[in-house]
Amino acid sequence: MADLRLAVIGDPIAHTLSPLIQGKMMERLGVPGSYDAHLVHTEGLGDFVKFARENLDGFNITIPHKSHILPYLDGIDTYAASCGAVNTVRVTDGKLYGFNTDGNGIVSALRLMGVSFQGARVSLLGAGGAALSICKKALEMGAKSVTVFCRTPAKAAAMAEDPRVTVRSFDQLSADSCGKVSDVIVNATPLGMSGIDSNFSDFSFLDGTSAAVCDIVYKPAETSLLRECAARGIRCCNGLNMLIYQAIYAFEIFLGQSFNRDDMGAYLGKEVRKALGQEA
Ligand code: NAP
Repeated sequence: MADLRLAVIGDPIAHTLSPLIQGKMMERLGVPGSYDAHLVHTEGLGDFVKFARENLDGFNITIPHKSHILPYLDGIDTYAASCGAVNTVRVTDGKLYGFNTDGNGIVSALRLMGVSFQGARVSLLGAGGAALSICKKALEMGAKSVTVFCRTPAKAAAMAEDPRVTVRSFDQLSADSCGKVSDVIVNATPLGMSGIDSNFSDFSFLDGTSAAVCDIVYKPAETSLLRECAARGIRCCNGLNMLIYQAIYAFEIFLGQSFNRDDMGAYLGKEVRKALGQEA
């Protein structure tokens, strides 16, 4: 097999777990090649694209270039286009094809909890890039409704285009608006994340809920939201499986073939928890 030449770009890039995760997959599957992290400033994106067309088989994209890359693409898949964001680019014969694997990442994370978006009433906290990709995937998977709670409702405009989506202000988050009327609750804000000062002011929105909760934050492993869920006996997961499965779907795109995702997911879970100092 020829070497697979891969990379990840972002600004900043030092924090990225992608080289670890993609490198472990290459190693486990015996795929030869390289996966390098490139710090790319916005003004340098054109130069990187030229380099990628000539030298790479694919690359991942993190903040802030997930939307900046769009004008450079030769093709984009339908879901990524609906998100207006691409996290995975396959390079074939010098042409760039864009994908977004975040949505499949959260679908896999929920599946491992025995939960699906299909027919679900979803409450989504936040209206940033991750929230948009989750909202679009929930709708694609047949969610009955998506209620977006956010500080800046204008940012939810692309979500509100679908009649199943309702946008509410973050301070309207309550048991009556969320906990008691949701099947799935997803936190897609950085509240509770290590290094972020702000946190949920209270958890009364979980009162009386029978919903499953996914906090897409994965550092720390147990956020205050998840600690609260555990204390209340609510089914919940953090964002680690979303992170791992979006990477698995990306690697399948690079490789051009699929493999046993759950076997790989379990292996990567151990490796990433080790790297994050989160071993049980
Ligand atoms: P983003 O585009 O910056 O969006 C963040 C969202 O959170 C915005 O809606 C923002 O509201 C809201 N927010 C921030 N602080 C808030 C507060 N104090 N109260 C209420 N809302 C607040 O970020 P993102 O890329 O969507 O990422 C969001 C989180 O998900 C991050 O923690 C990121 O690490 C995590 N993430 C995890 C995965 C995974 O694979 N597990 C993937 C992607 C992202 P405003 O617009 O009003 O600021």
